[in-house]
Amino acid sequence: MECTRCGACCVAPDIAALDKPLGLRCPHLTADNLCSVYDRRPQVCRDYEADDVCRLIEAPTIDERVRKYLDLFGLTAEADAVRQRGCSSMRKARSG
Ligand code: SF4
Ligand code: SF4
Repeated sequence: MECTRCGACCVAPDIAALDKPLGLRCPHLTADNLCSVYDRRPQVCRDYEADDVCRLIEAPTIDERVRKYLDLFGLTAEADAVRQRGCSSMRKARSG
């Protein structure tokens, strides 16, 4: 599977190295779903590779792709709770 640069993996998962909560856009993701800090992105982003998940979550919009990703891993309720609490930080999301 080739990465299609769909952007979903920069929104759906929580990313500790960026203090990015589940289901929220990475602050470095541009409006056209590219990484604005590509040359200095964290190691976890460098190591991430496209796999079968990318195919399973294919959808026309990034919101739909993110929803499918969260559903796939059973994380939808948790992500909704994070959004409702308006957590901008993973540490805050976990401590709430
Ligand atoms: S979810 Fe997969 S296809 Fe989409 S940007 Fe991430 S690695 Fe690439
Ligand atoms: S730093 Fe770049 S590659 Fe990593 S999650 Fe954010 S936008 Fe995506």
